[in-house]
Amino acid sequence: MFESLTQRLSGTIERLRGRGRLTEENIRESLREVRIALLEADVALPVVQALIERIKVRAVGQEVLKSLTPGQALIKVVRDEMTTVMGSAAADLDLNTSPPAVILMAGLQGAGKTTTVGKLAKHLKERRKKKVMVVSADVYRPAAIEQLKTLAEQVGVQFFPSSAEQKPEAIVRAAIEDAKKSYVDVLLVDTAGRTSIDDAMMAEIKALHAAVDPVETLFVVDSMTGQDAAVTAKHFSEALPLTGVVLTKTDGDARGGAALSVRYITGRPIKFIGVGEKPDGLDVFHPDRIASRILDMGDVLSLVEQVEQQVDQDKARKLAEKVAKGKRFDLNDMREQLEQMQNMGGLSGLMDKLPGVGRIPDHVKNQVTGKEVPRLIAIINSMTLKERRNPALLNGSRRKRIAAGAGVTPAEVNKLMKQYQQMEKMMGKLGRGGMKGMMRGMRG
Ligand code: GDP
Repeated sequence: MFESLTQRLSGTIERLRGRGRLTEENIRESLREVRIALLEADVALPVVQALIERIKVRAVGQEVLKSLTPGQALIKVVRDEMTTVMGSAAADLDLNTSPPAVILMAGLQGAGKTTTVGKLAKHLKERRKKKVMVVSADVYRPAAIEQLKTLAEQVGVQFFPSSAEQKPEAIVRAAIEDAKKSYVDVLLVDTAGRTSIDDAMMAEIKALHAAVDPVETLFVVDSMTGQDAAVTAKHFSEALPLTGVVLTKTDGDARGGAALSVRYITGRPIKFIGVGEKPDGLDVFHPDRIASRILDMGDVLSLVEQVEQQVDQDKARKLAEKVAKGKRFDLNDMREQLEQMQNMGGLSGLMDKLPGVGRIPDHVKNQVTGKEVPRLIAIINSMTLKERRNPALLNGSRRKRIAAGAGVTPAEVNKLMKQYQQMEKMMGKLGRGGMKGMMRGMRG
């Protein structure tokens, strides 16, 4: 995410970082580079202008020039102003109303609206402990209703059925009644998407909005469309009181123009970003963390949260206990760890939150990202339970059989076994030191 913008800025930042003195000329030069980087990232021009102007005012002031580390001070100013332009603090959903709190979701076709309804349902259910119901008012595409039904089952929330013969308002009114009866906290309403914002679409959603009076009206836009995302959201917000924007597909957006433009152009906050196709691919939008990430200062807070949410705490504890007791780490344990890595989107999902990663070339990054995790899991899956518990059984002919079963070469099986042996050795060391050894170490 944002790799190209980060890469574009990294040279400027590197030069600034170590600087003991800055002149106005240095600063002007740096700001010129920042400006070009922002324009190349498809940030809307008024945003670039406002941002550079604000940075300039502060940069030639006491704060930077008189600082002991002026380079660092200037980077901090850039980060602060980027944060401000994206809306400062994270904007939460407003669910303060008599239940059900209705959230109306709108967006162009293909923006990721239905997927986002599923993700948001999961987010509200798991992180905010809400009872959630979803309904589709997309009467033009029966497939969209089916898609939402599947998603609802997948994330385990209530689905209110609807069909193409009904009127959108009637569907939603009935859903609200039903939600009240079954004590649902939040009702998410998926609506029809069009290929562009047209009068018919606006008239329909305005009527729907008036009929259901939602607490939140979220506009879902594809971040890959750059500053157009902000422009589309602005058109929409002129017709309906938008309460926020969801920016999807940021995992594929190297530039970041949409993230930086939406707030300034529309006056509405980005509330969430889509970071993957799966139901857990949704993050709360934190402007400060995103700014740090763009400037390659890392987003350690999100990283910690992600690990906390996605690592299965129970399994992690069990493994720790097993290791502490000196029991052997076997291939089942390794598979569990690989699965947890996969849940986190492999290392790639974590990597772009680490400081400095922006400067690692892509071919190096690909070697350590999660691309090979599913293959490793497939190899372990092709082993018998006995082999997984007792890896010493794995002689040449067994390895050949496993390779054939998993559709990989025997060399790949050998490589996995080598990785396993390294992990096993490491775990063994931890185990032998035991909890007592660790405690001693901490006290000493
Ligand atoms: P809708 O027409 O707006 O309802 O769009 P869909 O929800 O059907 O999504 C369109 C496509 O975008 C699907 O293939 C989704 O998997 C994909 N998609 C949605 N959100 C994201 C995201 O955050 N990241 C990625 N990589 N793909 C996404």
